[in-house]
Amino acid sequence: MNVAEAITRIENELSIIDLIGHYSELTPKGKNYTGKCPFCKSKKSFTVSKKKNIFKCFQCGTGGNPIRFIMEYENISFKEAIDFIVIKFCETLNIPENFTADPIRGDVYVLLLADGCYYIGFTRNLERRMKEHFSGNGSIWTRIHEPIKIIEIHSDKTLNYENYLAQKYIDEYGYMFVRGGDHIYFKRKYEDKINTKVPI
Ligand SMILES: [Zn+2]
Repeated sequence: MNVAEAITRIENELSIIDLIGHYSELTPKGKNYTGKCPFCKSKKSFTVSKKKNIFKCFQCGTGGNPIRFIMEYENISFKEAIDFIVIKFCETLNIPENFTADPIRGDVYVLLLADGCYYIGFTRNLERRMKEHFSGNGSIWTRIHEPIKIIEIHSDKTLNYENYLAQKYIDEYGYMFVRGGDHIYFKRKYEDKINTKVPI
């Protein structure tokens, strides 16, 4: 799947009614839906067209397709908006969860650590990053649990792939033993379950 295909799929298959419904309550009105504008808060000017899969506010002028909505609402770039949508709706859209429109690529690696722990990381300079981990200057997790060896290297990958791999290791070994990927996301997802404050 390339970026153009992902865009086409989002534009054609992601219902703007479902998407905007997460942000503002929509009510059917004739052929369209109306609600409070998430941008200017106007209650009378915000219209969403299910048929055209676009939104428009006649008060503040904001309008466009699902990608444009996320760009405006989250204040992020076009490519970031695509990744934002894919992470949330990859199943609905049948887009691989590790897909990314972000061109930044590098090596994703897995380090086996002492105490049966694992660290999944992303780097654009593997040699330098390994020196940091093995000399106690890497992440806090690899300072607490001493690195033993690299057990996986995946070249030319993205940050989404790092998240994908981190999730895979967490599923297999448990969050208690695995760190890597989007730290804030995983911390929120798992910290309550293990009932322990985890280090950053
Ligand atoms: Zn508006």
